[in-house]
Amino acid sequence: MLSELESIVGISEIDHLVKLSRFLQGKKIVHINSTKIGGGVAELLTNILPLKHELGLDATWEIVVGQSDFYKCTKMFHNLLQGVKNQIVPDTLLKVYEQTNEENAQRLYDLLNEADFVFIHDPQPAALIKFFPNRKGKWIWRCHIDISRPNRQVWKFLKQFVIHYDASIFSLVDFARSLPHPQYIIAPSINPLSDKNKDLNKEDIEKVYTEFNIDPSRPVLLQVSRFDRFKDPIGVISAYKLVKKSIPSIQLILAGGSADDDPEGSIVLEETLTAANSDKDIHVLSLPPDANITINALQRAADIVIQKSTKEGFGLTVTESLWKSKPVIGGNTGGIRLQVIDNYNGFLVNTPEGAALRIKQLLSDDDLFKRLKRKGREFVKDNFLITRHVREYLTLLVILQQ
Ligand code: UDP
Repeated sequence: MLSELESIVGISEIDHLVKLSRFLQGKKIVHINSTKIGGGVAELLTNILPLKHELGLDATWEIVVGQSDFYKCTKMFHNLLQGVKNQIVPDTLLKVYEQTNEENAQRLYDLLNEADFVFIHDPQPAALIKFFPNRKGKWIWRCHIDISRPNRQVWKFLKQFVIHYDASIFSLVDFARSLPHPQYIIAPSINPLSDKNKDLNKEDIEKVYTEFNIDPSRPVLLQVSRFDRFKDPIGVISAYKLVKKSIPSIQLILAGGSADDDPEGSIVLEETLTAANSDKDIHVLSLPPDANITINALQRAADIVIQKSTKEGFGLTVTESLWKSKPVIGGNTGGIRLQVIDNYNGFLVNTPEGAALRIKQLLSDDDLFKRLKRKGREFVKDNFLITRHVREYLTLLVILQQ
């Protein structure tokens, strides 16, 4: 992978990684999250681990597992930390959360107690630290979600665990909190060589038109997302319906799958199907978790990609689409603002009406369309590739071990 990456990012970036890795030889690095399947964190770890291995690092990835009440609780955390109002997490679920973390701590005790560096991703495993009073290594809380305006009850509860970490990492400055340890800002990334992002030949792309009954001669608007309310699939359908009034040929694809740790997916999928109301030009695709080439092909087959999230920690789907030279219409929120520069590589929008206006503009102004689509790939290359991301992680580890 390193030599192929070198042809994209240049030799000095790879040299930098190799040199940093020398400081970390023999150190045990463990990543923990709550699912190997579905969602951005699993996508990131799937790509980062092999690169670390190729750099000679001893990195492993484990997950915490629980029963349905655990995922119910952590999905409530996810929703409430990102701004859902008027809910409180019952004490019974908070107990399940802590107990599940304790059980996982027992299962993973030797590995985590002896590790030199432990990355804990997101709130689901955050309480593990409580059960390692004699831990040897440095523990880092890596928060991927937007906690800029968290629900007070949930943040107060989580903070009692988070304060014990040696450092935290957020994707954006806006997400950092008041904490008694150093906080670092590191944006996520994509792997340009993965099945999700590698170049495809024409036949691979054309296959998705046939497979999903999409007309290649008509404009295609695409959103790829888990079926989650923060991704606003209903808002995407509203925008599509507004565009349809003046551009009747438009087709919409909403491609998603589920994540193992997301119990709300099937409900939101149902809501989306209801809103689609059997419109034959709306293709709601429920894809298996390993449909990477299909997603890659759909992103390449689309004319415009939309990611109309109302909250977004980062939004790898935006990065993936910009990398494929697609203009992206993104919700004006969180990590999308880091990636979509208004009127440069896409447009930021606040409402379905705003999204519809920009879609119509792009589909009717060829010069604008061409100008925006040219910028995305270069922007991702300069800012959001895996080599930059791993370089920043390794730099942080070198600093922490001083
Ligand atoms: N994804 C996927 N299949 C799906 C939906 C999404 O493989 O059906 C991928 C998507 O391509 C991206 C990741 O899951 O790589 C989602 O990451 P993002 O940061 O956009 O959102 P998250 O799900 O973490 O909120």
